Amino acid sequence: MLVNLHSHLEGRVRPSTAAELATSAGLPTPEGGWERAIRLEGPADLTVYLAKVASTYPFFRSLDAARRIAREAVEDGAACGLDYLELRFGPATHAEHDRGIADVIAAVTEGMREGSLATGMPSGAVVAALRHHSPATNETVARAAARFAGTGVVGFDLAGDELLYPALAPHRPAFDIARAAGLGVTCHAAEAGPAEAAREAVELLGATRIGHGAHIVDDPEVLRWCAETGVIVEVCPTSNWYTGAIASVAAHPAARFRDAGVRLVLGDDNPMQTGTDLRDERDILIDVFEFTAHDLANIDQASLDAAFTDLPH
Ligand SMILES: [Zn+2]
Repeated sequence: MLVNLHSHLEGRVRPSTAAELATSAGLPTPEGGWERAIRLEGPADLTVYLAKVASTYPFFRSLDAARRIAREAVEDGAACGLDYLELRFGPATHAEHDRGIADVIAAVTEGMREGSLATGMPSGAVVAALRHHSPATNETVARAAARFAGTGVVGFDLAGDELLYPALAPHRPAFDIARAAGLGVTCHAAEAGPAEAAREAVELLGATRIGHGAHIVDDPEVLRWCAETGVIVEVCPTSNWYTGAIASVAAHPAARFRDAGVRLVLGDDNPMQTGTDLRDERDILIDVFEFTAHDLANIDQASLDAAFTDLPH
């Protein structure tokens, strides 16, 4: 089973589509072309990694382009053999003003719907609030996301620079709005910050899933707490390697999570930047960390339980 629960729409823009969209939008071609502007050649650092993702941001200002990118992202997911894809994106980054936030969400969910109809693969959108945006902006984003609950948006997330913007409490009202609308809640936490940030995301924001959570293993007490409470950790090994968060893919804590009894699900984070897909991430668990059929069955079950869409069990 291939269930992708951590993947950013901004990290799924095909270089060929970027080239076409740039031509019609009159954007200059970056030096070396779009393939080079979007893809990483290998492991880098977070700044370089994020710059590659951000190279696609101008395209989302066109609603037609956002819709096309979303449709193609679902088609690419289906082509890789996914059974379900959750796509997250930060609409406030792409909107010109408050009203634009809902317009971006409408375009993306429409594109995803088209992709799912064409391929038969279910998908769900996760709207991301951003740490560097004001709590007021994130509340606006949450209210816009809530309007699409049941019509394409299934979840709410907090993304962005955890070291520069560690505080979660200011964003609590946004998450209260999202949860009241019935959206599932995940949060990028303990990715760059300490283990305790994961517990805060659960207790303050109501997260049931933690994005990356790589530093959870640094604190045995928080690690045990994750296992006991059944919090789901979304792991994306190649991405953590390519951002420089870990020195090699073998340094990823996937096996330590498994051994501690923490429930894991998989994501590919930004596959156009890393050149991987979910099958590659699953292969890493098998080849590098010797995950057994039983371990993989646990991931499948956790994925079905944790998906923000009801999937057939
Ligand atoms: Zn992410």
